[in-house]
Amino acid sequence: MKIFKNKKLSLFLTSLLVLSLILASYIPSFAQTSKVKNVILLIGDGMGTEQVNLGRIYKNNKLYMDEFDYTGIASTYSADPKNKWVTDSAAAGTALATGVKTYDGAISVDLNQKPIETILEKAQKNKKSTGIVTTTRVTHATPACFASHNIHRDNENEIAEDIIEHGVDVILGGGKANFLDKNNNGKREDGRNLIEEAKGKGYKYVDTRENLKKVNDEKILGLFNNSHISYTLDRNLTVEPSLSEMTNKAINILSKNNRGFFLMVEGGRIDHAAHNNDPATMANEVLDFDEAVKVAYEFAKKDKQTLVIVTADHETGGISIGANGKYEYHPEILKKQNKSVEYLLDILTTSNYKTIIREELGINNLTKKEELDIVLALKKNDKDNLSRALVNTINTRSNTGWTTTAHTGVDVPVKAYGPNANLFSKHLDNTDINKLAVKSMKLK
Ligand SMILES: [Zn+2]
Repeated sequence: MKIFKNKKLSLFLTSLLVLSLILASYIPSFAQTSKVKNVILLIGDGMGTEQVNLGRIYKNNKLYMDEFDYTGIASTYSADPKNKWVTDSAAAGTALATGVKTYDGAISVDLNQKPIETILEKAQKNKKSTGIVTTTRVTHATPACFASHNIHRDNENEIAEDIIEHGVDVILGGGKANFLDKNNNGKREDGRNLIEEAKGKGYKYVDTRENLKKVNDEKILGLFNNSHISYTLDRNLTVEPSLSEMTNKAINILSKNNRGFFLMVEGGRIDHAAHNNDPATMANEVLDFDEAVKVAYEFAKKDKQTLVIVTADHETGGISIGANGKYEYHPEILKKQNKSVEYLLDILTTSNYKTIIREELGINNLTKKEELDIVLALKKNDKDNLSRALVNTINTRSNTGWTTTAHTGVDVPVKAYGPNANLFSKHLDNTDINKLAVKSMKLK
């Protein structure tokens, strides 16, 4: 009888211990949830784990995003009725912006083309400040998914109107032509000047790096190129800011709101360089993106109420460090490249190509076959084949592999820092990233 009583007591004590352990494990994360005032979501467009790896190899050091406490991985497939396993940036951007999967080309609309509320709109409803910062046109798929709704990503003139209509506080990137009429070097055919209209709505407009440094208004529209901001390797530094400079400005302005902010930052041109299979240009874009991650990370370390999430919308190019059955890689080849291949396409001629390839790509031992391919493409003025011939010389020498010039379905990295970062340390779906960010900020 006595033993039975003791058994009962020990069972009771054990259950009490288990229960308190369960409760204790919940308390820290529960307490952390209440602390997320701001979310900074940084998206490397086309940045799979191998893109990050090449950035690290190129830098010959750890990246800032490597310092984050928690790492996970995310699936990126869409709900496109025809093609679901290889997403485009619009469907993937919609998943990150709204938590809903949709068709390729959709800008935060569902399969029935109905608008879906975005995390940015939810933040606005909760009186937080909001911003979008990118190296592409601000009307390009990823930023568009956060600040507009459209049945197709190509309707960039409409998307520009919608972004201004949404009253996003900080809008920084490229894409001036979609805001201006044809008579003003723009692409609009409706005679509207959205930059003047934005000024009328209280925006301060800037279009150079210098002016961006000086501006300190609550609402800013900064457009630094007619189309995308140039690749890091080709950037015009008197006019075009880096992604980290734009991110720094955005955080300075948005953090004045004591209710908090939501900021989306996109390293948009990692994808473009990967589409071109141009590894050095891509590595430089990863590093430009990582400098922006550093800015967000430094702010979050001091602020302690900011959740920083780094991820990608999808992988581009199916890049591999090492290829062709060889156990070797030569990053030193990539470090000799001074300009993007895309830039060289416009300046190469049949008479200057040897000099330019030596000076800008650091290659002075072209084979007969390589020369033939380059000269043939130049004579035919065939930019696609010229690009292919140039990247082949780089990829062969560095032993960089690519499986496609489009996107792939591989999982992408997720890195998180700050309160609730632990929630991202597992296998996620791209839609979960949105849901966790919304939940962390307690947005209604
Ligand atoms: Zn792409």
